[in-house]
Amino acid sequence: MDCIFCDIVKKTKPSHIIYEDEKVLAFKDLNPRAPIHVLVTPKKHITSANELKEHDKDLIGHIFLKIAEIADKLGCKSGYKILNNCGKDGGQTVPHIHFHILAGRSLDQFPC
Ligand code: AMP
Ligand code: ZN
Repeated sequence: MDCIFCDIVKKTKPSHIIYEDEKVLAFKDLNPRAPIHVLVTPKKHITSANELKEHDKDLIGHIFLKIAEIADKLGCKSGYKILNNCGKDGGQTVPHIHFHILAGRSLDQFPC
C-alpha cells in the first residue's frame, strides 16, 4: 500500500521530526498554515478517525497526552488548535490518521 505518512514513519521519505516514540511520530507540516504547524500521527496505519477500533483506544489516548507534551515543548503558551480532518468532505488529503497542532498566531477565526 502506498502511503506518504507510512513512508515518513519508515524514514524512506524525509521529514522534520519533532517527537518520536514507539507508537507516535510528530513532524512539521510541509505547507504550514501557522507559525507552528506540526502533524502527530500513529506509526500504525489507520486510514482515518472513522476507521478507529476498540483496540485503538489506548493509542489515541497516548497521542493526546503526547500532543500536550509536544505543544508544551514548542512553547505554545497562549494556546493551540488540535485539528483532525476525517474523510473527503472533512478535508482529509492524506489517508493516514493525523492530528494537526497549529499555534503561534491567533486561530480563533480558523474554521471552528
Ligand atoms: P489533511 O489535509 O488533514 O489530510 O492534512 C495533510 C497535511 O499533510 C497537509 O497539511 C499537508 O501540508 C501535509 N503534508 C503532505 N505531505 C507532507 C510531507 N511529505 N511532509 C509533511 N507534511 C506533509
Ligand atoms: Zn499510512
